[in-house]
Amino acid sequence: MSSSTPVPQVRPETTADPNGIAHHTVGACQATWRTVSTAGGTSTAAQFGYPACGAPGRIDRFVQVSQSTVYRPVRACPDHARQDARTPAPEPAAPDTGAAERATTPRLRPGHPAPGRAFRYNQNSTILPATAQWLLLWAAAHVEKVGLFQGDGLFATGGRTVTLKASMLGVLNVAAGDGRRSSSREYDAPAIRAARTLALVLLSDHLNGSPMESPEGADEEEQRRLRHRLVHVWGRTPGRTAAEAAEAFRAAADAAPQ
Ligand SMILES: [Zn+2]
Repeated sequence: MSSSTPVPQVRPETTADPNGIAHHTVGACQATWRTVSTAGGTSTAAQFGYPACGAPGRIDRFVQVSQSTVYRPVRACPDHARQDARTPAPEPAAPDTGAAERATTPRLRPGHPAPGRAFRYNQNSTILPATAQWLLLWAAAHVEKVGLFQGDGLFATGGRTVTLKASMLGVLNVAAGDGRRSSSREYDAPAIRAARTLALVLLSDHLNGSPMESPEGADEEEQRRLRHRLVHVWGRTPGRTAAEAAEAFRAAADAAPQ
């Protein structure tokens, strides 16, 4: 039935990144997000935090590793390929010499504040901090907005994560991206993790009144657990207010590297 000219199916084993390094073209889809329907089925949203999809996929794009010239491939199944990659490209109307160059440029919007940008809080922002200072300032503004949750768990119930009254650790988690990621942005996960780790150190040292000493032989995970506990207990102290929490986040931010 089809009258279209058959397209030769050349399926190379490898695809070269912008540096000319070859990567296996075919591989499992790495997407950790799913499209879920929201607002009673009237719209959809991307939710993160799922296990990797794992469906058969191919290299969808290359992402430059932060502060490096190395590229890593992002493999995706058809459902998780980037929106614009799903639409078949029309026949080129005219020779376009810039096309090859543009194809290697990440097309997602950056998920982090531009360097040097002045801090401004926006509860619904999908821009995530890549520094401890920005993360702590965001946390301070957020706890003022939603209030300090002193019950069991990290968040009060009912609503989107960004709107929930949150404990100190819940506030830190939202500041670091919980409930705020957008599938149309490219995030630097190692930078966010590093910012979250440093923010916790600065905050717990501030609340402790001096640098926390870790017990002999405590590994990184144990130290992290002790710092989380100190912050959590401080936040749950009866009478603790959101204003005091915000002040603590800002004081910790003051100690962060600029
Ligand atoms: Zn997938």
